[in-house]
Amino acid sequence: MKIVYKGLALMISILAVQLGFVFVLLNLLDQAERTAAREAQAKLIVGHTNKLMHTYYDAANTLKGYFLSRDDKARAQYEAVMNKVPLELDWLSTNLKGNPDAKASLEAIRKKSDQILNILKEAKRTADEESVISAIPRLGEFRAEIQPLFDGLVVDADKLIKRQEKILEENPATQARERAEIRNILYIGLASNVGIAIFIAFYFFANIVSRVDILMDNTRRLSKGESLRGRLKADDELGELDRVFHEMAAALSEARRKERAIFDNALDVICAIDSEGRFQEVSPASTSVWGYEPQSLTGAELKELVAEDQRAELTLCLEAAKSGSLTGPFEASVVAAGGENLIETLWTVQWNQDDSCFYCVAHDITDRKRVESRIREVIERLPVGIAVAHPDGSIEYVNPKLCETFSYEPYQFDGLHLKDLYDDTDGGDTGLKETRARRAGAIEFPAEVSSVSYDTHEGMRQLVVVIDVTEKFELLRLRRSFVSMVSHELRTPLTSVQSFLGMLTMGVYGDLPEQVTKLGASAERSTNQLIRLINDLLDVERMEQGRLEMKIQAVNSRDVLQAALEAVEGFADRYEVEVDCDVEDMGFPCDQDRVSQVLINLISNAVKFSDRGDSVHVRASRSGDNVRFEVEDSGRGIPAPYLSAVFERFQQVDESDAREKGGSGLGLAICKVIVESHGGTIGVESEEGKGSLFWFTLPASEN
Ligand code: ADP
Repeated sequence: MKIVYKGLALMISILAVQLGFVFVLLNLLDQAERTAAREAQAKLIVGHTNKLMHTYYDAANTLKGYFLSRDDKARAQYEAVMNKVPLELDWLSTNLKGNPDAKASLEAIRKKSDQILNILKEAKRTADEESVISAIPRLGEFRAEIQPLFDGLVVDADKLIKRQEKILEENPATQARERAEIRNILYIGLASNVGIAIFIAFYFFANIVSRVDILMDNTRRLSKGESLRGRLKADDELGELDRVFHEMAAALSEARRKERAIFDNALDVICAIDSEGRFQEVSPASTSVWGYEPQSLTGAELKELVAEDQRAELTLCLEAAKSGSLTGPFEASVVAAGGENLIETLWTVQWNQDDSCFYCVAHDITDRKRVESRIREVIERLPVGIAVAHPDGSIEYVNPKLCETFSYEPYQFDGLHLKDLYDDTDGGDTGLKETRARRAGAIEFPAEVSSVSYDTHEGMRQLVVVIDVTEKFELLRLRRSFVSMVSHELRTPLTSVQSFLGMLTMGVYGDLPEQVTKLGASAERSTNQLIRLINDLLDVERMEQGRLEMKIQAVNSRDVLQAALEAVEGFADRYEVEVDCDVEDMGFPCDQDRVSQVLINLISNAVKFSDRGDSVHVRASRSGDNVRFEVEDSGRGIPAPYLSAVFERFQQVDESDAREKGGSGLGLAICKVIVESHGGTIGVESEEGKGSLFWFTLPASEN
């Protein structure tokens, strides 16, 4: 039961006992009051009885006066006295109603009183009607009649008075008895109250206090880490408090156990350092990480453990941690046991005001530092310029190559921003992009720049790579002018050679020896190949400069395909490869020559890489909003790693392809540009040894 209910039940029972006492006391008091009232009433009855007797005397006397004087005043006096008689009698009968003993006396008094009153009335009537002389003799008669009655009345009144006097005599004894009873009851009440108070003290408060003592003892034990006393067997608030306390203690000890396990097993050194900078407690990791047993460090100064040149800085860091101004972890080199090795350590320090000590975690970063220094060495030697900048663009670090690229000494970067070095410094992560950069003396040069943001324990930083592409630009320019020069200068004479060789092999210049005809045919093929290469090169040049013109017109899929098939017919015959086609007749807008060029390239590749007797399937069909062309062969296929590369320039799966199959590795690159210029897509599905399926789609209608 809850304490409050227990207390309440106890209070109610105490109250019941108290009420019993009060009830008995009230009863006794009532009895005493009744005794006192009886006494008072007895006195009054005695008084009124005496008064009645006196009234009769007065009546007789005043009547005698009236009898003799016949005076109105005397008569009035007599009447006034006579009026009192019934009043007194009534009072007596009213007040003796509940008194059966007095009833007989009162009846006798009333009877005699009535007789006396009748006689007096008769006497008065006589006095009223007769003369004094005739009446006086009657006076003796009346007296003689009244006297015995009056004597009897006195006897009755005396009886009544005696009875009351008896009551008065008995009353003091009764009152004394009643007072004694009240006193006794009061003593008993007092004694029982004291008893109850003692009971409460022992059985209630003493019980609570003893349990509170247990709780307090448990609190003390918890603070000292001792085991708690057994649980209280009670279901009241203290029992509940004890249960919660035990649960809390269990949770605390579990948490402490885990904390201890972490402390004991952590790879990092965990330690508590007092405000003077001395170790209070050190985790076992100090043995494996620093080579010191934890006990040997207790009481030692942390400063003594740190490399001499870093001690002042360490003190500053600890002070900052104490004042709350330390923003993050700091590094310090711990001199390992033996004094030879330095352990690079990252310190996370937290000042605890309540315990007045620093809680620290020291993480071994020696390996990381070693790697960092290696990375730094690599970065220093990198052939590209590297800069590290704050998010606002201010430069924090540059490698030697960057200094060289911008013709600055390292110190000259102090205070410089990325925007002082190159344009487009809008930050964020960017791929390699071309921009204008400025070296010392505001000399501009083309550069490729890429930047990436990364998080450090000092905040976000931007890593910027800058490559001077002046030479690349120059080479590109040279290549372009070389290609254009070579192409133009070579194409014209080669075309003449081609037509001469054509006519030669056709016998325009007469019959030639077989050997010469063979050589002429071979020379013609080589010349054709050379002209095709030159044309491809020129196409690529034009494409690079965005000069590839498209003559878009409405065409029919069958016509486009027909033109391509006719162009490769002879070629396919030579390779003994059959080309079949399945065309859905449909119109669509495109540059017919260019799309035929794509198809010719794809079909001749398919023929080229097929075996003799194989077939190449060409298909054209509608696919949603597009026209889809497919060229499928069952030749050698393309290895997976080359699948995406074949559309890049000068990419050939096999280096011997150019030699054995002809071609420059430019065909698919040109196809890609043509298809994409039409707003289409090109792709390939292939499995090595099983053949390839080249496809491209073109929009079926003009947007
Ligand atoms: P090339 O003029 O050398 O044929 P392409 O750009 O047309 O240049 O092709 C590039 C390379 O892709 C070829 O050299 C060849 O290695 C590979 N290739 C193209 N088509 C096929 C195919 N149908 N089967 C196997 N390999 C192919």
